[in-house]
Amino acid sequence: MRRIGEAEHIVIIGGGISGLSSAFYLQREAERQGKELRLTIVDGADSLGGKINTLQRDGFVIERGPDSFLSRKLPTIELAMDLGIEDELTAQNQSGKTAFIMKEGKLHPMPKGLVLGVPTDLEAFMASGLVSEEGKRRALQDLEMPGDAPEGDESLGGFLSRRLGAEIVQHVTEPLLAGIYAGNLSKLSIQATFPLFAEAERQHGSLIRGTQHQQQNKGKGAQPAWPEGLREELKGSAFLSFKRGLSSLVDALDKALAGAERRLGETVTALVKNDSKEDGKLAEARYEIVLESGERIAADGVIITAQGFHAASLLEPHVDAAALHAVDYVTVANVVMAFDKATFGVDFAGSGFLVPRSEGLRITACTWTSTKWLHTSPDDKVLLRCYVGRSGDEEAAKLPDDELKQAVLEDIAKSMGITAKPIFTEITRLPRSMPQYPVGHLDNIAGLRESMAKELPGVYVTGAAFGGVGLPDCIRQGKEAAFSALSEL
Ligand SMILES: Cc1cc2nc3c(=O)[nH]c(=O)nc-3n(C[C@H](O)[C@H](O)[C@H](O)COP(=O)(O)OP(=O)(O)OC[C@H]3O[C@@H](n4cnc5c(N)ncnc54)[C@H](O)[C@@H]3O)c2cc1C
Repeated sequence: MRRIGEAEHIVIIGGGISGLSSAFYLQREAERQGKELRLTIVDGADSLGGKINTLQRDGFVIERGPDSFLSRKLPTIELAMDLGIEDELTAQNQSGKTAFIMKEGKLHPMPKGLVLGVPTDLEAFMASGLVSEEGKRRALQDLEMPGDAPEGDESLGGFLSRRLGAEIVQHVTEPLLAGIYAGNLSKLSIQATFPLFAEAERQHGSLIRGTQHQQQNKGKGAQPAWPEGLREELKGSAFLSFKRGLSSLVDALDKALAGAERRLGETVTALVKNDSKEDGKLAEARYEIVLESGERIAADGVIITAQGFHAASLLEPHVDAAALHAVDYVTVANVVMAFDKATFGVDFAGSGFLVPRSEGLRITACTWTSTKWLHTSPDDKVLLRCYVGRSGDEEAAKLPDDELKQAVLEDIAKSMGITAKPIFTEITRLPRSMPQYPVGHLDNIAGLRESMAKELPGVYVTGAAFGGVGLPDCIRQGKEAAFSALSEL
């Protein structure tokens, strides 16, 4: 029950980047508006950060979850600046930028001008060995075919095969885009994942022409202006990270939110709606958050940033949560291996490689981390990060540690000829960690939010399950939820 004069209380479920961003912008905006607000962050894990989890070991900076973020989407940079940690931002090594794709056991450099798997430099594409002559001719038919996008949403795989043909999708586009979602393109929604592709076809009648146009117009409105004061060298890097790892962001948020209560290691099991009024004058706090221990926390507003399947169980007694059940989650693992440079026997001129399903390896990609990110490794060492697990092929990610390590060692021997013994291996399993937005996702979520506005005013859902999985999208969504929650109080 809330007493007169007490600050309103918002409970944020989930202390990952979405929840922390919500809390940070709620606190900042409430201060700006002179509103008194009490904040509580509840997370079932023992520490904040959710998927973000940096390990410092023997001079290495090892990312157990995400390792960087897209610079073009500004919310992460803006948040770093709001927190005063922009000096810690670091750019990708510009001399190790080339990425490779495996084809029939060999690593091929990605042709120049490939934008998310769509060729825009046609000369470079025609010279590439990644796709057969027939596959190239089929991809270029995109320039002649009419734009015949169906009304509404369609699958990313269906769209790409329709425009570019099956071969380029199988060997180039799928491994590239699946790197982001660990997904099966034929099940992912184009509108919820890469709406710019659909936009390209709609506006230019061709995916290639539309993507070329989008690239040419970068910096002319398509790329929002860089925040003032951002260091020049950061602007040229497609991806950024932090010198001491992404956990710097979490640590800075933790510090900035010193005034917020935290309930870590406590899982929320139910959301209860209080409908009764006290003496007809002052409503009780509108909601109660029930913890696993049975304790109840009164809340005037609630922001849920839990994974879709967790959020669904909290919402289900109040609204139809089918939109969240429709979001599958894929289990992945990442296996980081450190080596001595002296015995490694291989040199890299690039950032890593992707492995199409047809290659039959257990690893789906490998980042040459010490070449791509110079801050991650001592000069005399090498750091590799291998990804395991994708939609429809999650078994390898669930192997016991010794078998998983062996599988990765076999795959790096096959793909790169590496036979050196690692100094150490760090395995991180991320069960049900990659949300897969199904066709129709955006409409499903809009419907869910509409019924929540009716049945659960003051309760918001946001985070990776909703409008984008990357860190910038999660921060943007967290911020939007903060503004909605505050304006509704
Ligand atoms: C292996 C991997 C690599 C990735 N790489 C990148 C990358 O390089 N760049 C990038 O931009 N993005 C990357 N991503 C995506 C990005 O990391 C995530 O989408 C993002 O961190 C999700 O943040 P979130 O706060 O929405 O969710 P989470 O980080 O999942 O946080 C949700 C939190 O809610 C808590 N929770 C859930 N249910 C309850 C409950 N009932 N009670 C209490 N607490 C609860 C959980 O414990 C968790 O801490 C990667 C993801 C993975 C898995």
